[in-house]
Amino acid sequence: MDYQNDFEMDFEDRIMDTSEIPSDVIDSDNPLRPKSLDEYIGQEKAKENLSVFIEAAKKRKESLDHVLLYGPPGLGKTTLAGIIANEMGVNIKITSGPAIEKPGDLAALLTNLNPGDVLFIDEIHRLSRQVEEILYPSMEDFAIDIITGKGQMAASYHLPLPKFTLVGATTRAGQLTAPLRDRFGVVLRLEMYTPEELSLIIKRSAGILNIGIDDKGALELASRSRGTPRIANRLLKRVRDFSEIIGDGVITLNVARTALDRLEIDELGLDQNDRRMLQAMIKYYRGGPVGLETLAAAIGEEAVTIEDVYEPYLMQIGFLSRTPRGRCVTAAAYLHLGYEVPSNTAAAQGSLFSD
Ligand code: ADP
Repeated sequence: MDYQNDFEMDFEDRIMDTSEIPSDVIDSDNPLRPKSLDEYIGQEKAKENLSVFIEAAKKRKESLDHVLLYGPPGLGKTTLAGIIANEMGVNIKITSGPAIEKPGDLAALLTNLNPGDVLFIDEIHRLSRQVEEILYPSMEDFAIDIITGKGQMAASYHLPLPKFTLVGATTRAGQLTAPLRDRFGVVLRLEMYTPEELSLIIKRSAGILNIGIDDKGALELASRSRGTPRIANRLLKRVRDFSEIIGDGVITLNVARTALDRLEIDELGLDQNDRRMLQAMIKYYRGGPVGLETLAAAIGEEAVTIEDVYEPYLMQIGFLSRTPRGRCVTAAAYLHLGYEVPSNTAAAQGSLFSD
């Protein structure tokens, strides 16, 4: 197998994917990740609250209360967890829900923490029930009870833990069990970024990576980045290649437009996958309502990918609506894709209401 080619095709396909892909991971230690609240652009409400809680905890010389961060992938949850640890002056251990398979795995992580440390659990909604059950007392009482052996050989140990801060991240706050959600003192929802905020992020990243870009070029990339810093940074790196070949190394409006058109990312940041999904809904289901699983089967995509990656942005820009009977394409999406809005469909009714 031609590995290089294979990787590149995969990469091309997924350029607008909000989840982490190998090239992000390789670069994950790069200086693009802001290290302090001051460097973290946007999310003003979350930042303001967080800085108050951090200051207060520091003043009282206590560990910070447990924090739950939620919002679509790529908006800066992991980055914010790192910033919390930096601002508190403590270490951070990073893991994820699916990586903690057994209660013993969690116990090993917890008993290795130092007082005040941050334990970051990404995709916390994917913890198993058994693991969740030992997480509750450890969050509340800073102790865990471990049972070893079976039958008559069983023994129970009560292990005190250092006072730590759990930072949980999830794309699905609704999927967390109530007892887990209730144990977070601070719950912050991350919002999609405005093009102006993304433009600042792009210019900051360009400065760090030594990439030439002007204001209009940055705004053009920003407005096609689906409100997501991870995509903005990825587009910046891809478009740099074009700027070196078709321009003089500086990303101008013209270079940005040409490059993004070649990558088939339209003015609103939709890629082939978004268009394919909307078109399937229009052609096969008269614009909806169509159920999630049916839609997933029709376009050969996982239901979770549709929910986590495609839908948040399409709903944000008003192209898709969720109804109790399923997903519907809106009139605005019909028009954007060059279709006439048919009468007697969910979209037409939606457009009547929105008028
Ligand atoms: P999540 O954990 O929500 O999936 P990450 O924290 O991994 O997202 O963020 C993805 C990338 O976007 C990071 O590598 C970082 O460089 C960039 N980023 C995220 N939020 C910001 C921000 N507010 N300011 C600047 N860069 C950001």
